[in-house]
Amino acid sequence: MSTIEMAARAASSGEESQAAARQKKFREETETVLSAFRREKLSSRGIDWVVTLFLIGVHVAALFAFVPAFFSWSGLAIGLILHWLTCSIGICLGFHRYLAHKSLKLKGPAEFFCLMCGCLSGEGSPLTWAATHRLHHQRSDLDGDPHSPVRETGWWAHMLWLFPRRSSEASRLLMKRYIPELAERPLMLFFEKTFPLWLWGSGLVLLAAGWAAGGWQLGVSWLVWGMGVRMVAAYHSTWFVNSATHLWGYRNYDTRDESRNLWWVAILAYGEGWHNNHHAHPAIAPAGHKWWEFDITWWSISFLKLIGQAYDVKDRLPKGRGADETEMPEIATA
Ligand SMILES: [Zn+2]
Ligand SMILES: [Zn+2]
Repeated sequence: MSTIEMAARAASSGEESQAAARQKKFREETETVLSAFRREKLSSRGIDWVVTLFLIGVHVAALFAFVPAFFSWSGLAIGLILHWLTCSIGICLGFHRYLAHKSLKLKGPAEFFCLMCGCLSGEGSPLTWAATHRLHHQRSDLDGDPHSPVRETGWWAHMLWLFPRRSSEASRLLMKRYIPELAERPLMLFFEKTFPLWLWGSGLVLLAAGWAAGGWQLGVSWLVWGMGVRMVAAYHSTWFVNSATHLWGYRNYDTRDESRNLWWVAILAYGEGWHNNHHAHPAIAPAGHKWWEFDITWWSISFLKLIGQAYDVKDRLPKGRGADETEMPEIATA
C-alpha cells in the first residue's frame, strides 16, 4: 500500500470514528430528553413540588367559589373574559399556533399582547410550552410523547405528566433540540424570566381593584373567580386536548397517531378540539377543516389579520389534501 493510500485510509477511519461519536452523543441526548417524559420516572426522580403544590393551590382557591359571600356577577364576568384571553388568545393563538407551529406572523404589539396573555394562563413559560409541544408532535403516541393517553392512561395525559421533576440537563436539551430559533430571541428571554411575575401581578391587581371598587369581599371575589375558577377551567380545557382528543371522537385524516376531533373540546378549548385536523396539518392556522367545525381562535386570527397585526397566515390546505378530499379507511369512532 502506498503512503498516499495509507494516509487516505487513516483520514477516512478518523472521519468514521468522529461520525460514530456524534451519533452516540445524539442518541444519548435523545434518551435524556425522552426519558424525562416517561411515566416510570415519576417514582424514580420524584415530584416537582413547585408545580404540584401550585396546581393544588389553584384548585383549592377555586373551591372558594362555593362560598356564597364570594360570588359576584362582576367576578364571574372577569373570570369569563380572562378565560378567553388567556386560553384562546394566550395559549391557542400565542403559544400554540404562533410560537410552536409558526402558522402566522405577528407584528410587535400583537406578539407582545398574545405572549403576555399566555403567561397570565399559568401554563409555564412560552419556551418550555412550545418545546414540549413540538416534542408531542414529533413523538405523538410513541415512546417519548410527553402526554399520550394511548401509551399510558387518560389521567397521565390529562395532568399527571406535569408532576415529575425534570433535570436541568433534560430541559436544556429540550430547548436546544426543539426551539433553537426561539431560544435566543430577546422577547422570549424576557418572558422566560418574567412569566411568574405577570401571573402573580395579575392576582394582586384583581384583589386591589376589587377592594377599591367595593371593599375586601369584592376583592376576594374577583381573586377567586378571576384567578382560581378561571385558571382551573382553563387548565382542564387545554388538558382535555392532550387527553380526550387522543381517545374519543372522529377522524377526518388517517394520521399515524390516535388524534381525533371532539366537538366539546373544540368548544372548551376555543377550536383546539379539532385535533385530528391539527395533527394532519400542524402548520395550518385554522383548526376547523369542515364548514361546521368552528374555531373560535381562528376568528381572532382573522381579526388580527384584518387590522394588520397578523400576516403571512398559513390558511390554505395543500391541494387535494383537505378534509373533504381525503380518502379515509373504515374506522370505528369511539
Ligand atoms: Zn396531539
Ligand atoms: Zn400543535
